Amino acid sequence: MKPVIALVGRPNVGKSTLFNRLTKSRDAIVADFAGLTRDRHYGNGRQGKYEYIVIDTGGFEPDASSGIFREMAKQTQQAVAESDVVVFVVDARAGVSAQDHDIANYLRRLGKPCLLVANKAEGMQSGVQLSEFYELGLGEVYPVSAAHGQGVRGLVEQALEPL
Ligand code: GDP
Ligand code: MG
Repeated sequence: MKPVIALVGRPNVGKSTLFNRLTKSRDAIVADFAGLTRDRHYGNGRQGKYEYIVIDTGGFEPDASSGIFREMAKQTQQAVAESDVVVFVVDARAGVSAQDHDIANYLRRLGKPCLLVANKAEGMQSGVQLSEFYELGLGEVYPVSAAHGQGVRGLVEQALEPL
C-alpha cells in the first residue's frame, strides 16, 4: 500500500497548487477564489524513491455548523482519517490566523503524524518570518513554494521518511 498524504488548511493557502506539484498534474482546481475546491480529490505522486497518494481538500472549518462549510469540514475530516500523514498548509505571507489555530488544535488532538508547511515562502528569509508559526504547537515549520516548486521534494521526504 502506498502511503496517503492529506493536504489540509484554510482556503487560499495553496493546497491545490501543492497537490499539482506533488502529482505533477493539472487536475486540481487552482483559483484565486477562496474555497473553490469543495470535494476531496485524489492523485498519485512520486518524488525520488517515494511513491504516494495525495488527497487535496477544500476549505477547513472544524466548527462550522451549516451548509457547504459543514460539508467541506466533513470531507476534510474523512480525508484526514484516510491518510497516514497530514500536511497542514499555512500561508507564509499572511502569517498565523485564528483559523490556523483552530485547525492546529484539531490536528494536535488527533495525534496523527502531521507536518506543518508554510507555503508561498519563495524569496523569504525563512528563520525570521516563519518563527510565529511555532506558536501553533506542531513543531518544525517547513517553508515551501508550491508555485515555484521549491522545498517540495524535501517536504515529501519529511512526511514519509518516518512512516
Ligand atoms: P487552496 O485554496 O488552498 O487550494 O489554494 P490554491 O492552490 O487555489 O491557491 C490560492 C492562491 O495562492 C492562487 O492564486 C495561487 O496561485 C497562489 N499560490 C499558490 N502557491 C503559491 C506560492 O507558492 N507562492 C505564491 N506567491 N502564491 C501561491
Ligand atoms: Mg483548493
